[in-house]
Amino acid sequence: MLNIQSIVKINLDHTRCVQCGWCLSTCKTRALDHDLENKIYFKDELCIGCHLCIEICPRGAISIFRLNSN
Ligand code: SF4
Ligand code: SF4
Repeated sequence: MLNIQSIVKINLDHTRCVQCGWCLSTCKTRALDHDLENKIYFKDELCIGCHLCIEICPRGAISIFRLNSN
């Protein structure tokens, strides 16, 4: 069975990200995290495609792609 996690792909433009952490605090499924250098990364398998991180990002650094489900 196909679920939304399998067709959503998140992209973060690190050249735009200022590491404010707003996206981390808004994500309800903990699909975002950061490494030891505060670089944000996504766990696509946890993302439900709600777009909250996109809406809250002050730099327009996040985008979501829906992969072809065929
Ligand atoms: S789209 Fe929603 S679930 Fe996915 S990373 Fe952003 S806030 Fe989290
Ligand atoms: S909200 Fe945007 S600028 Fe802030 S850490 Fe997340 S991706 Fe980077």
